[in-house]
Amino acid sequence: MRKNSLQHEHAVVVGAGIAGLCAAAALATRFVRVTVVDRDDIAPDSWFRRGVPQGHHAHYLLERGAMAMEDLFPGLRAEIKAAGVPVHDFGIVARFLLPTGWSPLHETGITIQPLSRPYLETFLRRRALALDNVTLLTDFHVDGLNLARSHKGPHHVRGIRGRHNGQAVDLTANLVVETTGRGSRLPRWLTEHGLPAPREREISARVVYASRIYHGHPDSGPLIQGALVYAPTRRRGGAVLGMENDTGLVILAGADGELCPTDEEGFAAYATTLPTPVVRDYLSAHEPCGPIHRTTNLSNRWRLLHRYPKWPHGLIALGDSVCYFNPIYAQGMTVAALQAAALPGWLDGHTTTRIFQHKLARIIRTPWLMATSADLAWAPRQAGATARAAHWYLDRLMPHLPAKPDLYRRFASVQHMRRSPATLLAPSVLRTVLGPAAPPLCP
Ligand SMILES: Cc1cc2nc3c(=O)[nH]c(=O)nc-3n(C[C@H](O)[C@H](O)[C@H](O)COP(=O)(O)OP(=O)(O)OC[C@H]3O[C@@H](n4cnc5c(N)ncnc54)[C@H](O)[C@@H]3O)c2cc1C
Repeated sequence: MRKNSLQHEHAVVVGAGIAGLCAAAALATRFVRVTVVDRDDIAPDSWFRRGVPQGHHAHYLLERGAMAMEDLFPGLRAEIKAAGVPVHDFGIVARFLLPTGWSPLHETGITIQPLSRPYLETFLRRRALALDNVTLLTDFHVDGLNLARSHKGPHHVRGIRGRHNGQAVDLTANLVVETTGRGSRLPRWLTEHGLPAPREREISARVVYASRIYHGHPDSGPLIQGALVYAPTRRRGGAVLGMENDTGLVILAGADGELCPTDEEGFAAYATTLPTPVVRDYLSAHEPCGPIHRTTNLSNRWRLLHRYPKWPHGLIALGDSVCYFNPIYAQGMTVAALQAAALPGWLDGHTTTRIFQHKLARIIRTPWLMATSADLAWAPRQAGATARAAHWYLDRLMPHLPAKPDLYRRFASVQHMRRSPATLLAPSVLRTVLGPAAPPLCP
């Protein structure tokens, strides 16, 4: 990094999760100093931590997200690989029971590196903190924004206030990037200055996850296997994911109000009700290495900050704070990395933070449409024309996937956000979708 390319003085990033660490790396290319603050007491090798309760659940990184992280942290994939997590072809290493049969085990050209959320975070944290202009202040609880009021235009955020090791502290900054995740208090931080609360959209399939880590990868078959919930017929799903250090993460999922149990017997019994025995068989052959963790009411929520009247100068929010998704579609970390990667280009354009929030909305739009269209199948009465058309189309397309590897490859590239959903409207796909229906292979 050349010193004269650093055009700005000081940026503060609130939150050292995936979005915060990616944002820190991106900002370090344009700011003299980047200070990341987090309320958790984070050590270099911190694993599960209070501020990221979702870290106990599977965190599957889509290929597009891995590519965005690689751009922010060059050599990241190779580093993770050297630490013992190979890069696999998604089509060879992951197999899911679709409503009409197993997904084909075939090369897709889509690569994945299955590792746990805490492990990924340790790599990102180490890389971000290796940058000589990035500092992490832990045990720093941010309570609000410091704001210079303006009578005409938008207000100007000048920094943050909080408690560092229990002591009241103010940090001044030219830019504050808020990445405090799902539990973000951003609306309160705005309303306490007399500003309006942002409008939100929420669509919930009332998804529940219960997860537990075990010793050992699956004994047979691919590293990742299971049956996902599928609207509107399959309320129960479950999968086992082989991860780093020869561990396996079992995840049970429920949708539309189906609650996965957290007691030993209930967990095992739930696995026996899935449409495939792979999770049940794995559980009976492997020893757990931790408790069962459950998270309920997982929904999709989008704060419409790009429509906020007079969005403050000097403030950006990104990651789950702005938009989170039903995690079944595994989009959150990818969207966070893509948003962070957009920061340097925006800074070079010298436009307003409001314009950047619009840019973020464009990144969110497609994954939001994909996640919510699928989830609205649980509540068809609430679904608009677009969601209804998407259900109709997918209901006709999905039955063909088990028997058509090329179609599955195309479908997977959309899921991994490598290609636009419009690719599923190509003439060859349309011919299949509008042609004779595929025979059902399993219930
Ligand atoms: C159950 C579940 C499963 C998921 N599975 C996947 C998956 O398979 N694939 C995928 O891509 N995504 C998944 N996600 C989404 C993923 O966790 C997030 O999208 C991603 O981590 C980006 O989050 P973030 O960095 O914005 O927030 P977080 O990772 O939640 O980080 C927020 C950070 O802010 C800190 N913080 C909060 N408040 C304050 C404060 N006041 N002061 C200082 N610090 C503060 C916290 O300590 C934390 O470190 C899943 C989410 C859930 C809930």
